[in-house]
Amino acid sequence: MSAAPSEAPATVELGGGFIYVRRPDGRAAVLAPHLQSAGVAGMMSPSLVNARDAGELRSWLEDWGFEPALPVAQVNQVHGTEIAAAGEAGPASEADGLWSDSGGIILTVKAADCAPVWLADMSSKRFALVHAGWRGVASGIIAAAIDTLAAAGSKADELAVAVGPHLRPCCFEVGPEVADRFANIGGAILPASALTAPRRRRDSVSLDLSAAIRADLNDLGVRDEQIFIATACTRCHPELFHSYRRNGSGGPLMAAVAARRG
Ligand SMILES: [Zn+2]
Repeated sequence: MSAAPSEAPATVELGGGFIYVRRPDGRAAVLAPHLQSAGVAGMMSPSLVNARDAGELRSWLEDWGFEPALPVAQVNQVHGTEIAAAGEAGPASEADGLWSDSGGIILTVKAADCAPVWLADMSSKRFALVHAGWRGVASGIIAAAIDTLAAAGSKADELAVAVGPHLRPCCFEVGPEVADRFANIGGAILPASALTAPRRRRDSVSLDLSAAIRADLNDLGVRDEQIFIATACTRCHPELFHSYRRNGSGGPLMAAVAARRG
């Protein structure tokens, strides 16, 4: 990875405590330090890496200290609400989240504009990682993740939840058919004037996906001071992130990862 004039600076604050870090050797990552007190490492690959390519993903994981022998749990993401147990899931499992209480596995979900959401139980070894786009959030994936952890013994008020970089209201143009799904959630739908990206349709508005996620978390009993939301927009920062809206379908993806330390 050679230095390029357009390369991102060495450290970029992404809001909500998320940090983009580029090391002197050029390797970069988005760090989610919020889960450290729960003993969970949370990271996301940057736009330097295409996590759609399994070899690139593995190489990036090794660059950041993950043991080559550790299995990488991933699922077939379908914008649904299924949360799979990491030890039982495979690439063909249709799910949009993974959970584990083991130290022997790396959880991954892939995203480009959808929000990666890390959840960690601060009083046990349990943690989860979710791929949350508007379809998943509207269908209840946040509640599904918390219900899954609760069924294993976790309490919502003992969770830390970090929502990684995603498409923000500046770029999240949605039509009325999507807006209707969020109409009852305060702050989730903003007027079209919130959009700085060129509009593709005249009847559109802006979606604040993280407002909908925060509303779900609040309703489910997660304490507000334990919710951390990145404010950097994936589409607005090509030097940092991949973006589906910018690159189109079939474009490169980022991988969010979570694993127990030690
Ligand atoms: Zn934007």
